[in-house]
Amino acid sequence: IRVYVPRDAAALAVGADDVAQALLRECAARGLAIDLVRNGSRGLLWLETLVEVETASGRVAYGPVMAADVPALLDAGLLQGQPHALCHGLTEQIPYLAQQERLTFSRVGVIDPLSLADYAAHGGWQGLKAAAAMAPEAVVQQVLDSGLRGRGGAAFPAGIKWKTVAAAAGSQKYIACNADEGDSGTFADRLLMEGDPYCLIEGMAIAALAVGATQGYIYVRSEYPHAIATLNEAIDRASAAGWLGRNVAGSGKAFELQVRKGAGSYVCGEETAMLESIEGKRGIVRAKPPLPAIEGLFGKPTVINNVITLATVPVILAKGAAFYQGYGMGRSRGTLPFQIAGNIARGGLVEKAFGLSLRALVEDFGGGTVTGRPIKAIQVGGPLGSYVAPADWDDPLDYEAYAAKGNVVGHGGLVVHDDAANMAQLARYAMEFCAVESCGKCTPCRIGSTRGVEVIDRITSNTGAVHAANVALLESLCDTMVNGSMCAMGGMTPYPVRSALSHYPQDFGIKSAPAA
Ligand code: SF4
Repeated sequence: IRVYVPRDAAALAVGADDVAQALLRECAARGLAIDLVRNGSRGLLWLETLVEVETASGRVAYGPVMAADVPALLDAGLLQGQPHALCHGLTEQIPYLAQQERLTFSRVGVIDPLSLADYAAHGGWQGLKAAAAMAPEAVVQQVLDSGLRGRGGAAFPAGIKWKTVAAAAGSQKYIACNADEGDSGTFADRLLMEGDPYCLIEGMAIAALAVGATQGYIYVRSEYPHAIATLNEAIDRASAAGWLGRNVAGSGKAFELQVRKGAGSYVCGEETAMLESIEGKRGIVRAKPPLPAIEGLFGKPTVINNVITLATVPVILAKGAAFYQGYGMGRSRGTLPFQIAGNIARGGLVEKAFGLSLRALVEDFGGGTVTGRPIKAIQVGGPLGSYVAPADWDDPLDYEAYAAKGNVVGHGGLVVHDDAANMAQLARYAMEFCAVESCGKCTPCRIGSTRGVEVIDRITSNTGAVHAANVALLESLCDTMVNGSMCAMGGMTPYPVRSALSHYPQDFGIKSAPAA
């Protein structure tokens, strides 16, 4: 009997190893033979540790399971998929999962992450095989036609980046994967790297064949030790099997891959600071131009894409650009793995085509707040993203529609707050975060963020004319940071500040919203 217990960090954090040990111990004591598979997480984080049992009708889910629950679950017939208070029926029919459109995450939580046989049996390497049989220009064209845009936050068309690198002069080119997933409320990169590492490796190998790169780096934040270990093991196994190395998938072309561990700086998620860090230097932002596609890592043409962008490439090459392009709306094609976090009853990962609303994500999928109180605010797109106005929670999620209202979709992270949240304090936190994480290269960010904390403190502790003057000063400071900062760190910190001020003026002691 095959039983699945996730090895994902989110599951380990709530005792998955203890559950696995308890299962092995109890089954041995009862003379029951089980084949225990440590899979990735399905992304239904409120159900972790999610134990699944393979039955004739499919995998049956139990969760959240604690080690102490194991004897009673076995008594109730867990190994036969029998009902229990913790049983959710067939995993694939749990509404949270059944209503998703999993293209990039189709294997995550399903397979043994390091099993090459499992990966191949679930459609793995089909995209790379197709790419190896195509001309490099045709591979780039597939990515262009798919409409895939960078999933790290900037949403720049991936195919245009690839085309630029492919056309750039130089025999040495690189693929750099940005896995410095530092946004609040985000975990999609980690879930994929731990749950389906070959998918990222395959995407990077396809990129290498397309642009003529021979060396790749995955820059992973140090806070992700499980992802780093999984990737290193997966790279070794993929190399031994001929999917990496001197003759990638029989193409006659070479591509080597290495993991580089970051050192915990948020700004190293900015692509040029990441390049500095991979080169062994302090992670500070480089001025652009030159673009990294022309002069990137070690001064050579470099494709820089986020984990999800690269991990989406295999399905595009395997099923064709038109298949992927068929999902989404407007210029936002395909799917995005949304990550629902914060004060939420059912936190987790939801991969859906662009076009659904924030309300559908936090209410239908998320189930409202875990405290049961009304939702007050939702920050979308990480610590530099706006608090989306409650009046806009029914808008379709799409890059252009969001940008038109001064919001960002970013990496798809949502952080939910209930009505106990103080938005002035959250705005202060945004400035404080910027002050701590600023690389210090430009003045509006380095100094502006510290002045921002001070001004918000004055706003929340003064009244009358002094108060009004400080609100105006905060607006002016935000203008300076937006227009004068060199990168998104200083340039976008005003997004959460201004949106909090605009949509929740009462928390700043303002009776009505300030004039635009
Ligand atoms: Fe560095 Fe901040 Fe300037 Fe970006 S905006 S370059 S993080 S000081």
